[in-house]
Amino acid sequence: MWVCTTCGNRIDHSQTICDNCGTNQAGERQADVIPAVLGRHVHPRRGLAYFILTVAATLSGAGCVGSVFMALGALIATNWPVALVLAPLCFVVSAAMTIVFLRVRDWRPPEETARPPSRWKQTGRAFVA
Ligand SMILES: [Zn+2]
Repeated sequence: MWVCTTCGNRIDHSQTICDNCGTNQAGERQADVIPAVLGRHVHPRRGLAYFILTVAATLSGAGCVGSVFMALGALIATNWPVALVLAPLCFVVSAAMTIVFLRVRDWRPPEETARPPSRWKQTGRAFVA
């Protein structure tokens, strides 16, 4: 049994790295090991909302393309209010909705954002000016 110098976790001698924070017995963070506290929430949770938002983003993206064709059709038919006002409005609204759907879909609470382990080695030496 050894005690982790970083988090105080008690670890069996069969393990060389603390499975809670990724620190080895010398007190150094192993760069290639993603500690459990950081890796816990890394796996994405893709529930029903993820699926719905993906469909919604695809539909509003299609609406974006559709409004371009609507504008072209209105131009050919010389329907100026639709070609110059309604179609550009539809395009902007569809584009904004696509961005919002994708941003909401990929958003995670700050504490669940995965951070890679620090590249700085812990020396264990006290800071001396
Ligand atoms: Zn630890």
